[in-house]
Amino acid sequence: MLHSCYGVNAEGHLTLGGLDTVKLAKEYGTPLYLLDTDHVRAMCRMYKKSFAAAFGSASAPVYAGKALCCTRIYRIMAEEGLYADCVSPGEILTARHAGFPMSDVFFHGNNKTDEDLRTALSLGVGHIVVDSMDELDALEDLAAAMNVTAKILLRITPGIDPHTHRKIITGNVDSKFGSAIVTGAAEAILCAAMRKPHLVLDGLHCHIGSQIFEIEPFADAADIMTGFIARMRQAHGYAGTILNLGGGFGVRYTEDDPTIDYPSYVCALGKELDQRCERYRIERPTILMEPGRSLVAAAGVTLYTVGSVKEIPGFRNYVSIDGGMPDNPRYTLYQSRYTVLHAEHADAAPDFPCTVAGRCCESGDLIAENVSVVRPRRGDILAVLVTGAYNYSMASHYNRIPKPPVIEISEGKATVAVRRERWEDLYALDEVPPDTASEEVSP
Ligand SMILES: *Cc1c(COP(=O)(O)O)cnc(C)c1O
Repeated sequence: MLHSCYGVNAEGHLTLGGLDTVKLAKEYGTPLYLLDTDHVRAMCRMYKKSFAAAFGSASAPVYAGKALCCTRIYRIMAEEGLYADCVSPGEILTARHAGFPMSDVFFHGNNKTDEDLRTALSLGVGHIVVDSMDELDALEDLAAAMNVTAKILLRITPGIDPHTHRKIITGNVDSKFGSAIVTGAAEAILCAAMRKPHLVLDGLHCHIGSQIFEIEPFADAADIMTGFIARMRQAHGYAGTILNLGGGFGVRYTEDDPTIDYPSYVCALGKELDQRCERYRIERPTILMEPGRSLVAAAGVTLYTVGSVKEIPGFRNYVSIDGGMPDNPRYTLYQSRYTVLHAEHADAAPDFPCTVAGRCCESGDLIAENVSVVRPRRGDILAVLVTGAYNYSMASHYNRIPKPPVIEISEGKATVAVRRERWEDLYALDEVPPDTASEEVSP
């Protein structure tokens, strides 16, 4: 199987964390998100340990909450001692609701509103990752008005395309995120930040992309960022100590994807980094990295019930399921590839080539094309593997379909982390009385 949390029991049913997925589908209904949090915890510990070994004890993994955002996952991240990266007040407030220490939160985003920044300042969010000069000026004014000092990082664009693994100095400069080194914007914002009386410039951040399987793009980013730090020390006395190299570690979705040995990957990056620090004669910064997908993706499985099997001679076979783009928009958005299994015959050889289609009124609502499964019938359970990241967090109500629950699996037990939406949840916001219609959202 693709990952160690998956298995097959004596009945031939797919298991997750040792539990029979078919039984869980009958118990909780479908569509259903399952999440093996023992696997998530194991990944957290692996990152903590390998970061400490490769980058020193002050380094830490920062969980990119956008991959999977709910109270339970932030509680787990807090228990495991990770920091958190949030990209909206909604994520920050969910973390706070989970008891996540606000001082361990990094607030990202390319357009934080004044209200967002005020909320972050009043909640005591640890670091705000400033994206632009406009945001820097606004944050200084807000911090001054609130009479507080804010710790910040600056988001820098190193100019790397991780998928051609080349330093495309101009190519990646075309980004809505951050300030580019090559255009001079990075130096300008750094100098401006150092002069802001209510802001403390603790370090720099970059994020080069996602689903990266090689070490070179990270080594290139480390090279460019440490070189930049050295120049800024020399030229402007820049004294920030944090270097956050972002997220993006790859995850195996299908048998065609490579397996990643994360600890050796992190170890290799640590060596590359040490070489660069030596070359540029700077002390090794406190290294942070922000894994999202790789912490939670493999731990997730989505279960669906098959509604119809349609064979179109000369064309293809369609298997329609009771979910689709509302619970997993990734195929529709990016043609992301997934592994699909007949959950009741998980170790039998697949014999039925098909397209797995969702239930929405969109021809593009597909979960997988050109896959092969054991021929299903109406009522059978299909499993899509590796759905722990960017599924629940990207779910929508398109076609007024309620969001599935998230069932946590840990130590052989299943519990509800997020309940299934009810029909009344769907119209709870409609036609509310005028006096509640414009209610301020306050933390
Ligand atoms: C999306 C994102 C991450 C997480 O990326 P993964 O590919 O899920 O590891 C980390 N940091 C930032 C700034 C991001 O935008």
